[in-house]
Amino acid sequence: MRRWRGGWPDRMRRMERWLLPASCLHCHRPIHEPFDPLICGLCRSRWHPVPQPQCQRCGSPGPGPTCAICTDWPADLASVQSAVLLDAATRAIIHHFKYGGWPRVATALSGAVIPLLARLPPAPLMPIAISPNRLRQRGYNQAAELAAALAARSGRRLHRSCLRRRHQSASQTALGAAERRANLRDAFAANDAPPTLVLVDDVFTTGATLTSAARALFDAGAVEIHAVTFARAEPPLAASARLLTTDCSTSERD
Ligand SMILES: [Zn+2]
Ligand SMILES: [Zn+2]
Repeated sequence: MRRWRGGWPDRMRRMERWLLPASCLHCHRPIHEPFDPLICGLCRSRWHPVPQPQCQRCGSPGPGPTCAICTDWPADLASVQSAVLLDAATRAIIHHFKYGGWPRVATALSGAVIPLLARLPPAPLMPIAISPNRLRQRGYNQAAELAAALAARSGRRLHRSCLRRRHQSASQTALGAAERRANLRDAFAANDAPPTLVLVDDVFTTGATLTSAARALFDAGAVEIHAVTFARAEPPLAASARLLTTDCSTSERD
């Protein structure tokens, strides 16, 4: 049975949404699209795609053949791509998505991510897991909502069950990349992973979450892992993450 998401305030908000004309969660302009996407077309048009050129492996923007982000990643983490930059506009949308009780924002985010799947093998989609405590508090896993929206649009299989979050890592707010990796070491467990898969998460900050999950999945039998995220923090990464955590938290916290 599908569980209720959030408490009475969230249910009342959803009822209000059903009764009143749709308006954008971000700018409050009326939405005239047939299926209420929660975020209006004007706000969506203000999302900035991650610029080219990018590192062919980790998707970090910047020129040059060497990359400081992915040199020590697990060998079989084949590629990571993100759709848009994490800036003021997308940070606000992610806040609605993760902390505002609006899992259906995933539909709008998936529209930006779906073109990235065309470059990847036809492997199942697997959301990054959040801890049971976080799932109880939030009522849903935002990465699972995004993965489900992507599966619905792409026809790819959704693989939910083999990745688990072992424990809730401490806040990553003031940590650099190496400290984030240490903070997330052994954060995930997995079993019976498919050989090839595409991980899905909402935000890429330093890659610590994806590499930690990838290591657990390799131990469980995966041999080729790709990943897609909606947004990507621009360097300096810690500063971008801190902006997101001033009123909420980073993806790598949960
Ligand atoms: Zn809007
Ligand atoms: Zn790279």
